[in-house]
Amino acid sequence: MKSCIPSEILRIHHILEDTTAEGFGHRMCIWVQGCSNRCPDCMAKDTWDHNGGFPLAVSQLIEKMRQCRSKIEGITLLGGEPFDQALPVSRVANEAKKMGLSVITFTGYTLNKLMEKELPGVKELLRETDLLIDGPYIREQRSFSRPWVGSDNQQFHFLSNRYKPEDLEKVHNRIEMRIGRDGTLQTNGMADFSALFESLLEPSKSDGLDGRKNLLNTDEQGRGV
Ligand code: SF4
Repeated sequence: MKSCIPSEILRIHHILEDTTAEGFGHRMCIWVQGCSNRCPDCMAKDTWDHNGGFPLAVSQLIEKMRQCRSKIEGITLLGGEPFDQALPVSRVANEAKKMGLSVITFTGYTLNKLMEKELPGVKELLRETDLLIDGPYIREQRSFSRPWVGSDNQQFHFLSNRYKPEDLEKVHNRIEMRIGRDGTLQTNGMADFSALFESLLEPSKSDGLDGRKNLLNTDEQGRGV
């Protein structure tokens, strides 16, 4: 059952303060925790539990954005499902816009479904979103021909004048990798990971480091999570 989330608290899976692999330019990327879409092909099931992740006050997230403001062009909201926490997420997005930041929002819902939703904050989050990327990942429609998405059914909706469809032509898919202090490798972005992982993992067999595969935190839809 979905937890009751107060509007001033978000549940977060993780945050990257500066990435160039999740939208136009440098962006703060916020993976929210909790997703009720339950897409059959989802490989990020650790983001489903609405009680998972960690709680963060909207005010703390806004302060974090303020600190990063000078080095980022905008924020990207993804998950999990940002519209499952639409009210607090819309408050973050609203503050981002006041700072002059752009807002890109990923959702597993289609835009049409969202328009039908009467849940608090949905219309507000749509109003603050410059670019909405909608639809679930569908394995049968797997494709990396467009930036940031893994299947052909996913659509780009330019909801403001901030970005235009032709801006997509200047963008290429990319991935980023970060090695944590504990040795874990975290990836984010979108690309065909399979070939890359094969080349990364091959030497580990002779090194006796086969367990390294478990440290690659990504999914078959090509998105680092
Ligand atoms: S693919 Fe995205 S929208 Fe679908 S269940 Fe997974 S996290 Fe949720």
